[in-house]
Parts: sequence; C-alpha cells; structure tokens
Amino acid sequence: MDVVSDFEGAIGNTPLIRLSRLSEMTGCEILGKAEFLNPGGSVKDRAALWMIREHEKSGALQPGGIVVEGTAGNTGIGIAHVCNARGYSCIIYMPDNQSPEKVDILRTLRAEVRQVPTVPYKDPLNYQKQAGRFAESLPNAVWANQFDNVANRLAHYESTGPEIWSQTDGAVDAFVASVGTGGTLAGVSRYLKEQRESVEIVLADPLGSALYAWVKTGEASMSKGPSITEGIGNSRVTDNLADTVIDDAVQISDQEMVTMVYEELYLEGWFFGSSTGINLCAAVATAKRLGPGHTIVTVLADSGSKYQSRLFNPEFLAGKGLSSEVTQRPLKTGSRRSTKAFAASR
Ligand code: PMP
Repeated sequence: MDVVSDFEGAIGNTPLIRLSRLSEMTGCEILGKAEFLNPGGSVKDRAALWMIREHEKSGALQPGGIVVEGTAGNTGIGIAHVCNARGYSCIIYMPDNQSPEKVDILRTLRAEVRQVPTVPYKDPLNYQKQAGRFAESLPNAVWANQFDNVANRLAHYESTGPEIWSQTDGAVDAFVASVGTGGTLAGVSRYLKEQRESVEIVLADPLGSALYAWVKTGEASMSKGPSITEGIGNSRVTDNLADTVIDDAVQISDQEMVTMVYEELYLEGWFFGSSTGINLCAAVATAKRLGPGHTIVTVLADSGSKYQSRLFNPEFLAGKGLSSEVTQRPLKTGSRRSTKAFAASR
C-alpha cells in the first residue's frame, strides 16, 4: 500500500504545479511548489517539524514539554499541529499586526497566543525576543527560534530542495522565493547549487524590507514600506539566510501582488496568500529576464483563506490605496469579461 504514516508523514512531498497562464504569458515553464497542501496549510510545517525534532534529539525537549515561538502565524500553526501530534503544548508570541484569522486558527489548535506590540527587532519587546526570554524562564521548554535555528533551513535542504530537483528531472533553471526567516530560500539554494551550480537563486522581496538591498548592494538597508504582505520581508540577515548563494533579487509592490492573486483567483481558480503573489510576480519577472524556454520554480506558500479580512477584503484594500480590479483577460471558455462584470453576474 502507498500510505504515509500520521501527521508528520503528510508533511512535504507536495505536488509541483504548472501555472498555465503565467507559463503561456512568458514562454517559460512557471512551476509552483504546492506548500499550501501541507497538513497545517503552509510551507512552515516543514520547518516546525524539523525544529521540534532537533530539540528532541538534543534532549532539550522532554515528554510533555512546551514549545515557545515568536511567529507571524504560519510557523506557529505548524508548531501547534506537531505539538498536538507529539504530546507537547505551545505558546506563541505574535506581533499584533497579523491577520485575525491566524490568531483564531492558533487558538482552535490549542496554542496559547500572546499578541504583543509590533516593534522593531532591536526593541527588547519584539515578539521574537519575548518568546526567547519566556522559554528560558520555564522548565522543560524550548524556544523553536525559527529565524536563527538552522534546523529550519535543513528542512528545506533535506526535503523541499530534493523534491524540486527530482520533480523537474533536474531541469530547473531558477528558483524564486520570498524570505521571512530565509529557511526556504537558503535550504533550497544549498541543495540545488550542489546539484548544478548554474541554477539561479532569486530572492523576491516586498516593500518595507531590507533584503532586496542586501542582495543588490551587500548592505541590509530598509526599503520604503509598508507592505500588507504577511510572513515575509526582514530588516536583518538571519542565521538561516547568512552565507547563502543568491544570484539576484526582485522587488515587488503590493499593487502588483494584489493584481496577481486576484488574477490567479478569477482567471485560474487558485486562492493564494500574499507571499505567493510576491513569489509569482518575481517568477514572471525572472522568466522575462531569462527569456522563453526556461523552467522557473517558485513556492505557493499558503492559501488565501487566512487573509479574508485583509487581502480579500475590498474595503481593507481601498483603505491602503490598493485595487483588486482585474482587467480583461481571455478566460479558458474563450469569453472575455472584467472581474466587475464577473462579480455582477454571480
Ligand atoms: N510565506 C508565508 C505565508 C510564510 O508564512 C512564510 C514564513 N513566515 C514565508 C513565506 C517565508 O518562509 P521562510 O521563513 O522559510 O523564509
């Protein structure tokens, strides 16, 4: 029988999906790693599992222990699932600017959620610093520490990277991903570069992050933001990201991202979150730069279902000066209509 065992066995081995419209638009194969199909719903399930396993292996996490983490949400969701599956409890520190849907899911999963003011990393009240201090103060507790615990990167070196290589039969020309902790980009970069050094690694960055400048100039200086994207962008180079070979960076505005996610929703049937929108825009930019005939792999990091109150709320978007309108495109049926007409027809 072809079965996987338990929750953990269901993490990874996600399909690689051809994005037809983007591929046809660019003459390249634009392929998305369907990380939203992980059992906790995002790319961060892999990191959660690898970090918890590492803390178990080191002996720091004993039966019945507590996992504490600072997270924008998806890592916390992955951790909460793995903790339930392995008999731990978890406490999640989260900045208070994240979507309420993520807080609700975490509480449903029985995580204790502590929402703290959104302050820069250097501030001792930053959510990551508070998580670290609190874990230290508890017996039989660990700080998962996704930003600087390289078990996060190892997850992608040992699973995502090899999967992409084998699913493309080694035909991948470029890998494009946005960065929160950097675990995904750094782990996949290391694996793919070991297979063929010429595979291009491209960092996709939203506005209000320092990583585009870091790749382009070597200095992590913040670009003008803010951005409504969640879980990506960073003001610093984490231990996971450090010493990673990155060939190029692309900066994507929120309006480009919003248009992309709505086009994928209305014209192709996909329901993606904001980081996936950034990834797809950067994959298209990379395809245009490389020219037709290339294979570009990116990450479909999570679904849109956690972002109904923001990215998929026209009033929220309007308040940020963003428009969800999709201009006319050919549909598969051969008809042409704008999304306004589409919405009115329902
Ligand atoms: N997309 C989403 C939706 C995320 O939650 C995250 C992680 N916060 C990322 C992308 C970035 O992944 P990584 O931390 O591996 O850089």
